[in-house]
This record gives sequence, C-alpha cells and structure tokens, in this order.
Amino acid sequence: MNLNAKQADLLVIGGGILGTFHAYHAIEKGLRVIHLERHQAPIGATVRNFGQIVPSGMNTFWQQLGRESLRIYKDLQTEVDLTVKEEGSIYLASNAEELGLLEELSQINEQNAYLSKMLTKEQCHARFPSLNESYCVGGLFFPEEISVNPRVMIHRLHRHLQEHPLYLGCFGEEVNELEVQADGTVQATTTKNGAYTAQKSIVCGGTEIRTLFPQTFLSSNLEIVQLQMMRIAGDKTVSLPGNVLTGLTIRRYESFQDCPSWGETIDNWDPDPFQKEFGIHILFKQESDGSILLGDSHEYAKAGDEGILPFTNRSDINRFFIDEGKQIFNLPRWDVTETWLGRYSQTSDPRGVVSETIDDHIHLITGIGGKGMTAGPGFAKAQIKEIFND
Ligand SMILES: Cc1cc2nc3c(=O)[nH]c(=O)nc-3n(C[C@H](O)[C@H](O)[C@H](O)COP(=O)(O)OP(=O)(O)OC[C@H]3O[C@@H](n4cnc5c(N)ncnc54)[C@H](O)[C@@H]3O)c2cc1C
Repeated sequence: MNLNAKQADLLVIGGGILGTFHAYHAIEKGLRVIHLERHQAPIGATVRNFGQIVPSGMNTFWQQLGRESLRIYKDLQTEVDLTVKEEGSIYLASNAEELGLLEELSQINEQNAYLSKMLTKEQCHARFPSLNESYCVGGLFFPEEISVNPRVMIHRLHRHLQEHPLYLGCFGEEVNELEVQADGTVQATTTKNGAYTAQKSIVCGGTEIRTLFPQTFLSSNLEIVQLQMMRIAGDKTVSLPGNVLTGLTIRRYESFQDCPSWGETIDNWDPDPFQKEFGIHILFKQESDGSILLGDSHEYAKAGDEGILPFTNRSDINRFFIDEGKQIFNLPRWDVTETWLGRYSQTSDPRGVVSETIDDHIHLITGIGGKGMTAGPGFAKAQIKEIFND
C-alpha cells in the first residue's frame, strides 16, 4: 500500500498474535489494512511464550479453533518460514490417575476425530532416552500438533505481510485515541503520525487496558496473569522433540475436565502448597539451538490492580521448576541461561475471550488467556468473518 495512504478498510491495533492474524485474515479477504503497533516490534506475551500450539489442552469449542490454527500455520509455512516444527505434543503421566485421564481423553478425541495415540512407558522412553525411569508410566501423543519459536515467528510474519499490497504496518506508533466520526468512519490518532481512518477498527491490545476505552476494560471480568519462565542450556546429547507436557499439566488443562474421572482425581489430590500457590505446572520445549524452555507459574490480579504483581523473577519458583524438572528428565546440564516474566489478559466470561463492540465499528478483542498462540489464528479468522458479515 502507498506509504502515504492513511485510509483503509480496517485499522488493526496491536502487533501481537491476535492483532497480526486479524490483519492477515482481513487482507486474505481482499481488505486494505493499516496495522498499528506501539513498539518497533511487539514485546508482549506473543514473544515471551513457549510457542506450543496445543489444541489438545483446550475445551471442545476452542480446540476446533486451535485445529484451524494448525492448518493456518502449516499453510503459511509453505509460503514463509515461520519456524513451524511438526513434531507433535506428548503428555507424560506420572501415576495411574493421570494415565487414566490420558486414556479417557484419547477416547474423547476419537469421538471428535482428533488424532491421538496412547504410548506405553517403553514407547515414551524410546522417544525421550533422558526420561527418568521412575517418573513416567505412559503417555498420550498428538502427532498433528506443532510448535513455533515465538521470538522469531511474529517478526517473520510481519515482514511477510509488509510485502502484501493491501497491508501497511506502522510500528512504533501508539494509538492514543480511537473514535467513530460523524460520517461513520473510525479515526485513530497516534503518538507519531496523526490520523488514520477506516470503515472499522479491531483493537487487540493484550494487557494494555488504560490507553483505549479503559472504563470498558476496568468494568469487565478481565484479569492480568503473570507467568515466570526459564531457559536452560542446551546439550548436543539431549533430544526432546515436540511439546512436552507433564503430570501437573494433565491436572491443569481444560480438556481433561471433560474426562469422567477428572472430579475424583482432583478431589483426591493433595498438591504441594507452593506449587498450588503459584499455579505451577511443568512444560518443556527444546529450541533449534538445543536450549530448553521450562516453565511456568501463574499469579493473578484483577485488571486495574496489576500493580500488585511482582516485577522481579522469584528464585524460589525457578528452583521449583528445576527440582521438579529433575524428577522428569535426567539432563546432563541444568544451567539457567535466562529467566523472564510474561503477562497475558484472561476473562472469566464463559466465552473465553473479551469481545466488545463500540459504536458499531470498533471491536475490542482481548483476554484470550494462555491459548493465544494456539487458538489465535483460527479465532481471528472466525472474527473477521463475523465482523465483515460473511
Ligand atoms: C510465559 C507465557 C507462556 C505462554 N505459552 C503459550 C503457549 O505455549 N501456547 C499458547 O497458545 N499460548 C501461550 N501463551 C499465551 C499467549 O502468549 C497469549 O495468549 C498471546 O500472546 C496474546 O496475544 P495478544 O496479541 O492478545 O497480546 P500481546 O502479545 O500482548 O500483544 C498486544 C500488542 O498490542 C500492542 N498495543 C497495546 N495497546 C496499543 C495501542 N494503544 N497502540 C498500539 N499498540 C498497542 C502492544 O504493544 C502489544 O504488542 C503464553 C503466555 C505467556 C506469557
């Protein structure tokens, strides 16, 4: 698009996964899009996460959107290298109750025509030679699931979109005012270049709730969730392919709540108080350079009260990750090379997302929680269809 053009069919605000895929699906429909992100490159949840694309962990509604996302990522990967790795996801059970939940989930998946395969203890060990003998009693494998490197993926996608004639990406521009004008168009005023107009606007601002329509967000059921993550050093001898999810994740992810023995398993569970307090479950993902992402913990604040969340990494949480991790894998090195915090917004609304329309033409879409990398691309496709009345 002509770089001087400040008019389009759609203004998308927010360069994270949600905003970017709304922009992508809009141009796929032939709409002219101006995409505004306040930083030169996004620094929010979209670049701080695991990059696990795991529809298997979600309830039936969101799983469908996640499965659509798998198709979108895989299709896009044929055009541009988005770091998609097709290595599947595996859930490792540490005892009979967790194994029972895996068996039940595999039956539910069969009814939903979602491919999964139970693995014996021996098959899990064959896949992960460094798995501790005493930890794993069996696993459930989802061969169609994928992962991406989140620190790389979104930038490559932005560069890819910049080549499209219907797309104009304006990075380093914060929108500080957004309103419907008398002629029915939406005008965005930014800190840098003045005014952009379009027929409609979609705002995907992640955890930013104070700049645009703060009253709407502050009176919603929005919560800010803070997570802690770490990276441990790589080692040539270690191979952990795909997304690795473990016993505590089986006890946390929504999909397992549909299993017949879920209630009994959770009722009989006496969790470690520290693990419970910080909502810790243990996930692993090995990056292409061999390093391993390990996490995560969860701390919560009502939107508007997020100042109560700590701003430093807790060493006791890091220690818990490592101690727990050592029970699962016998790795030659556990040197921590990085540790960081990330935040996302989530809602207690049963729809699982905040989606509000202001003056018919401004759509606020946020609060997708911990499922944005997985369900975001498919969800954005459905939203664009709905907003443009297809
Ligand atoms: C540690 C961690 C691990 C996670 N792991 C996974 C995982 O493995 N799989 C998974 O599916 N999900 C995961 N998630 C969740 C996922 O990362 C989020 O759901 C997703 O990134 C949210 O994307 P978003 O676009 O809504 O928000 P963000 O990524 O926060 O993007 C919002 C963007 O809007 C911009 N913005 C805000 N206001 C304005 C304004 N006024 N003008 C211009 N720009 C503005 C911000 O600068 C920001 O770049 C994880 C999250 C975290 C924190």
